[in-house]
Amino acid sequence: MKVKSLDGYESRRIAVVGLGPRGVGALEALANLAGERGMRVSLDLFDPHPSPGAGPNFDPDESDLCRLNIPMRDIDLRAPAALQVASLSAWLEPPIGRDSFPPRARLGTYLQYRLEAVSDAPALEMTRIAAQVTHLEREGQAWFLKTDTRRHGPYSEVLLVPGQPATRPDDQLAAWQAHAARGHGTLAQAYPVRRLVQQGDDWAGKTVAVRGFALSSFDVIRALTMGAGGRFTGAGYQPSGREPRCIVPFSLDGHPPYPKPATEEVDARFEPTPDETDAFREAVTIAACASPNEARQRLTAALIPPVERTLMTQAPETAPDSVADWLATEWSDAGVQEVGTALDCVSEGIAMAEGTRPPTIGYVVGQVWRKWQDPLRQGYNPAETAPVTPALIVGFDEGLKRYSYGPPVAACRELLSLIECGLVSTGLSHDPDIALIDEGWRLASAGREVTAEVMIDAVLPSPDPHQVTDSLISGLIHVGWLTTLDDLAARTGPDGLLIGSDDRVVPGLSLLGRLALGSVVAADSLHDCFGAASRRWAEGALSRIADPAAASVNAVG
Ligand SMILES: Cc1cc2nc3c(=O)[nH]c(=O)nc-3n(C[C@H](O)[C@H](O)[C@H](O)COP(=O)(O)OP(=O)(O)OC[C@H]3O[C@@H](n4cnc5c(N)ncnc54)[C@H](O)[C@@H]3O)c2cc1C
Repeated sequence: MKVKSLDGYESRRIAVVGLGPRGVGALEALANLAGERGMRVSLDLFDPHPSPGAGPNFDPDESDLCRLNIPMRDIDLRAPAALQVASLSAWLEPPIGRDSFPPRARLGTYLQYRLEAVSDAPALEMTRIAAQVTHLEREGQAWFLKTDTRRHGPYSEVLLVPGQPATRPDDQLAAWQAHAARGHGTLAQAYPVRRLVQQGDDWAGKTVAVRGFALSSFDVIRALTMGAGGRFTGAGYQPSGREPRCIVPFSLDGHPPYPKPATEEVDARFEPTPDETDAFREAVTIAACASPNEARQRLTAALIPPVERTLMTQAPETAPDSVADWLATEWSDAGVQEVGTALDCVSEGIAMAEGTRPPTIGYVVGQVWRKWQDPLRQGYNPAETAPVTPALIVGFDEGLKRYSYGPPVAACRELLSLIECGLVSTGLSHDPDIALIDEGWRLASAGREVTAEVMIDAVLPSPDPHQVTDSLISGLIHVGWLTTLDDLAARTGPDGLLIGSDDRVVPGLSLLGRLALGSVVAADSLHDCFGAASRRWAEGALSRIADPAAASVNAVG
């Protein structure tokens, strides 16, 4: 095929900024489609991270204490068949059992294999540039990227897949940083966990508070216990003597997430029927473009049948009609119906995950919702959403993460053992008052108080691009190429093209992943990195490369 030119520049070069899992998924989609279309594309791949392909969250050098939140049986990192890559289960050596949750580091080595494999695809010619992109510029129809040392380009397409770049600390964290900098206590970050394990050597016998009681807090607690040489046995936790005196996790609602079903057999009890899933697909497609009220009604109507059917067999004493009431409250106030303590949540969660206790409505809703994450993305992501509806649907999905993104049941059993032996205290887990004191932090709630000499931040920063401090992203906002949805993240079209301040797509500039939350849903998942969003981007990019004239007409149309 003839190479067309843009303003005299060769037009087939693509820049990809970020080489985590989503970068790999995008390259695979591109390789496959370019191969099918008989095209050959040249790419520059920018990322300073030392583990290209894996990125920071699946870094092969990270501690094995950090587990994936998906059991082997459910991991499906789909690659186009033409690329002939081995599946994770076939590739892992030694293998990992179907009900086990692999260390994220091992996933990282697999993702690096996937990057190596796609590097061999005949349709792509790739150059890796281990540098941070600091700015983006446009000259005519061509893009140029700046790193610290030089200007790169021209490119006809730029794909941004930066994950969660550096973000401004929220007010609480900023105050704590200043407090710790004045010598009052130690403030540490959850990641990398391998660094936390080393820091933990200095914290033996101290009280360590953990801000955040979601998935990251499990990594932190493991780092401070098993990372310090402790072991879990049938008789409970066997300390090494190098642990903190006490670990005090806390969050706004004080509840840890619920574990996923322990076995395939228990998990199957929450499987929606194909008809129920078809009805959900239709509901999402309509809901995404509907008013908030209609969206809520459609999704509620799709959830009720599988949830009621499951409860009828698993928890027959649940009152009829209570599912609709539960969902109505969840839509308006996610999580408020969890009234038990953190300890209740852990022990009941374990029993429900093991199938030894009837599941609650919330647990069933959460498992069904987890099983519908793919249809949710497929229906929502390409849609032109109505105003306000994205915040509603994204908020509902985020709220249900306490079930749908749950940890392994083994991690909850470990937490329970640690609570039982007093090494973890959940007495202050529900939104404690926090005072800054000379020794560090004083946490108080309901007549109890504790002084923590160490505070660990285990809260994932906001995806709001306005909070990102990385100059690439703030520069895009400044020139109007990146605009945001109310209270959410970047506005993008169905194929990932950014929508600028003139309400038109920015030609050739795309963003995929967490920073587009609202334009897309359920982005914080490995599965999303290898899904339809990458294919839509690849289709759009290749079509524009093949026919730049049509692309520029579409961009302003
Ligand atoms: C601690 C943690 C644990 C997680 N665990 C799981 C899990 O168990 N299961 C799951 O499904 N999901 C998990 N996730 C969600 C996870 O974010 C995604 O699965 C996945 O990592 C997203 O991939 P990504 O490529 O979009 O972003 P990332 O993996 O963050 O990769 C982005 C890359 O972009 C690079 N980059 C950023 N800005 C620039 C720039 N300006 N120039 C050049 N390069 C740049 C970064 O260096 C980085 O390597 C976890 C997330 C976190 C934070």
